[in-house]
Amino acid sequence: MSYYSPSIEKLIESFERLPSIGHKTATRLAFHMLDLNQEETNEFINSIVQAKKNLKYCSKCYNISDTDPCQICSNPKRDKSVICVVEDVKDIIAMEKAHEFKGVYHVLHGSISPMNGIGPDDIKIKELLNRLQEDVPVKEVIIATNPRVEGEATAIYLSKLIKPMGIKVTRIAHGIPVGGDLEYTDEITLMKALEGRREI
Ligand SMILES: [Zn+2]
Repeated sequence: MSYYSPSIEKLIESFERLPSIGHKTATRLAFHMLDLNQEETNEFINSIVQAKKNLKYCSKCYNISDTDPCQICSNPKRDKSVICVVEDVKDIIAMEKAHEFKGVYHVLHGSISPMNGIGPDDIKIKELLNRLQEDVPVKEVIIATNPRVEGEATAIYLSKLIKPMGIKVTRIAHGIPVGGDLEYTDEITLMKALEGRREI
């Protein structure tokens, strides 16, 4: 039995669908939304609508961006000859916070996971290989997939494809806990992991 009116119940349900939001937090957020005045409510709704409308994938690195190419790909100061491969857009933010990496990225949007039916064709591997054959010669591909079974399997798979192209392939070092997430790794650890990368 619900204690709330159907409209509030629906709002709580919507919040509950968001990641890491339990029923209690969803309820708190729903009631917070009800406390907002009309202007604040419109602003909130508008920011979601605008983000959904304006954001697109960068056609080079598959980062989410307002522009195509994204700010990183279009920055002349970034070294286009070094590509850091990550699983998720949020991993770019983690790497950028560490202020260590001056190259460009490639977002796979996942990792190879036969258990979950995700094969090499389901993530942006083809796009990466196409990129490596483009005009700017790439010297090094740093694989920064998460240190889980899937991330490791993806790293090995990529290495086997890229090395024959005469490109150096490295894997970021230890320090990131096995089974951990790049996204939640602190900046110092990430900086050290990048510095200590080794060839695979
Ligand atoms: Zn980009």
